[in-house]
Amino acid sequence: MNDASDEEAASVRAWLEAAMRPEVEAAIDAILVMVDDAVRAMRPHCLASGNCCRFEAHGHRLYASGLEVARCVLICRSEGRGITTADLEAAVERGNCPWQIGRLCTAREGRPTGCRVYFCDPRASDLVPELAERAHAAVRAIHDRFEIPYEYGEWRSMLARVVGDRTPSSGSRGE
Ligand code: SF4
Repeated sequence: MNDASDEEAASVRAWLEAAMRPEVEAAIDAILVMVDDAVRAMRPHCLASGNCCRFEAHGHRLYASGLEVARCVLICRSEGRGITTADLEAAVERGNCPWQIGRLCTAREGRPTGCRVYFCDPRASDLVPELAERAHAAVRAIHDRFEIPYEYGEWRSMLARVVGDRTPSSGSRGE
């Protein structure tokens, strides 16, 4: 392997290992509670149209940090909903997320903050960017606090890097 691929493998390994640490999970849980509270206060309408997960059709782009991506992959694997590179390629072809089935999300527990703060309700259009910014800053702070390499990128591109990882630490949580 050359230096660039060594560095890439090390980052992905660090995300996966960090996502299995209880203290990191506790820090993420605190962000999710903050987001849930803010969303409850905002009271946006969600008709469960599934449009927010059909990225190309809806003109929406989802971004997540390396830690968030690894966390989602591991949680979904542990729930029996792991995805493969082929699943990802099929999702890119369809223009949606690999965990969207029909209109519904099948990665509820693992989904990143970007999924939790976004609502297409026009009444929430002022509040959504502010909450997204706050959640993103909090996730970034976890990367810094636990010295986890920080990268933030388009959801399916980031997923491709983590799903393709074959290091021993890429198993499911609790295995
Ligand atoms: S993880 Fe769930 S909510 Fe987020 S884009 Fe995928 S299907 Fe939609």
